[in-house]
Amino acid sequence: MSKFLLEIITPEKQFFKGEVESINIPSLGGACTIMAGHQPMVFATEPGMITIVEEGRTREAFMSEGFIEVRPDETIAFSEAVEWPEDIDERRAKEAKERAEEMLRRNRSAAEYKLNRIALQRAFARLRVKHHGDAGWKDE
Ligand code: ATP
Repeated sequence: MSKFLLEIITPEKQFFKGEVESINIPSLGGACTIMAGHQPMVFATEPGMITIVEEGRTREAFMSEGFIEVRPDETIAFSEAVEWPEDIDERRAKEAKERAEEMLRRNRSAAEYKLNRIALQRAFARLRVKHHGDAGWKDE
């Protein structure tokens, strides 16, 4: 299968750089799979699980809200936070989930509601990746 260069960057580090077959990434319009030859575009991504396929092996990670730029020569994803399952602190994610749920119950302004809803989405996604994504690459 054709490959393309994928780079995933956070403010602190280069999380991933390599030739891949595809990346599946959650976007506002639903999950999107990018493969070699995809038309150039930029879109916003949602917090959730990303799946990278490299030489028939897959690896999953958590990616927070961000952007992805698909170019003919390289695809770059930018996000505030990206974590492999083994780097996710489950207790911290559970605490973040409880905090966000409590804040949502208090039902404040629309702006606060939005922030807490997205914090809850991050926490749920981290817990899902932690439980679903085993450490390392998996053969398909
Ligand atoms: P919290 O309220 O626990 O900080 P958050 O969703 O607001 O959660 P982010 O803003 O997404 O946190 O991330 C801030 C930094 O903390 C990033 O570097 C991110 O990788 C790290 N981080 C946040 N939650 C976790 C977690 N559960 N496990 C590992 N790293 C985490």
